[in-house]
Amino acid sequence: MLEAQDTRRARWGGFGPCIGRGQCDGCPILEAWRGQCTVVPVNAPRVLVRVDPVFAPDSLFTGPAGHRLWVTTGPNDGDFRHRRPWSWEDAARVRGWDVGRRYYDEHGEGFWLERTARVPALGCVITTRARGSFTRHAFRVARCRVALLHCAGECHHDVDLLNAISHACPGPEGANEERSDLRWTHAALATPPPADNIRFHVDIRPMSVKIAAINGGHLEQARLTLSGSGWTAERIRAAGDALRAHLSPPHLSRPACGPPR
Ligand SMILES: [Zn+2]
Ligand SMILES: [Zn+2]
Repeated sequence: MLEAQDTRRARWGGFGPCIGRGQCDGCPILEAWRGQCTVVPVNAPRVLVRVDPVFAPDSLFTGPAGHRLWVTTGPNDGDFRHRRPWSWEDAARVRGWDVGRRYYDEHGEGFWLERTARVPALGCVITTRARGSFTRHAFRVARCRVALLHCAGECHHDVDLLNAISHACPGPEGANEERSDLRWTHAALATPPPADNIRFHVDIRPMSVKIAAINGGHLEQARLTLSGSGWTAERIRAAGDALRAHLSPPHLSRPACGPPR
């Protein structure tokens, strides 16, 4: 990734092209690590990884002996050194985040990682229970249920939908059983446009918000219930957009999930 333009990093060896393009099938090194993933310790759509060179006492002319990689919430995050730094090997074991642009500032350099719907939000616990005629997926943050997805009949989605909904969920500060400040007038703002063969209806009540996904047969295919004061109009819209992006109407072949919008 970075080494292509920096020969000092050549010692990082074969990892570079791998995490840059995500084409790791058949890569013997990453194959050996499959299943041992590094968790990005931040709940955010993107993080900035700062790359600090580490110099041995006598390595002034030979370049850094290694690197410490620090996960930060962005350029203004100066309080990141309490986190455990990564090695390049740790970074190579990150799954579900795409490597984004390189970054430079007066403190050094780094690169962005962009979260995808292949991973859930950190701190959000998703549980699934299948009943006879429906399936329910619960989303808990700080042990408080903040969202419940009810799928009528069998699920017409994969885990990407659940992950994308978890990205929209409020953090611990908004996970509670308090009423929302939102009014029904926010519903239009929070309603996603119709997708192919699915339209959406948002109902904002004091104690919960419901997003219904209604398919071409006028059937409620899925219903997402959101509760707690942390659900802003923007978060509700993000949850609705997750349904729109990842829910397939029944009896249609499932389209490939695109990048998060
Ligand atoms: Zn690879
Ligand atoms: Zn489902």
